[in-house]
Amino acid sequence: MPEPSPNCVFCDIVRGTNPHEIVYEDAEYLGFLDRYPLNPGHTQFIPKRHYRWVWDMEKADLGFMFMKARRVAKALQTVFKTDWVIADTGGIGVPHAHIHLVPRFEDDGHGELPDPKILREIPDSEMAEFARKIRLEIERTPQ
Ligand SMILES: [Zn+2]
Repeated sequence: MPEPSPNCVFCDIVRGTNPHEIVYEDAEYLGFLDRYPLNPGHTQFIPKRHYRWVWDMEKADLGFMFMKARRVAKALQTVFKTDWVIADTGGIGVPHAHIHLVPRFEDDGHGELPDPKILREIPDSEMAEFARKIRLEIERTPQ
């Protein structure tokens, strides 16, 4: 089992030493709002264990991760009133396996894939409200 990495921002979030707005948490996975969102509701979904790439995970764990990310994506669809939620496992920004879940809108200015130069300025209070709505929606809907 990979050990937590001391120099990993996402491991810090798992440890609770770098507070973020949490939208989903269970024993093995964590979803939180990205502090530099490409769109409102941009969520990072990660395994709590440190893996460099999603492709380093056991295949069953990766399957579970996507099953659980689906719950978050479904909630994002409802909360942000869009069917278009992309999932991207890029992985260059932070060296800890993650799935970006980004609600998309016809007029959001991104291309087919998000433009990393387009970031949204969202006040902390609004981020907290987004997280609250997403958590409620996840709790409200069956697995
Ligand atoms: Zn990590």
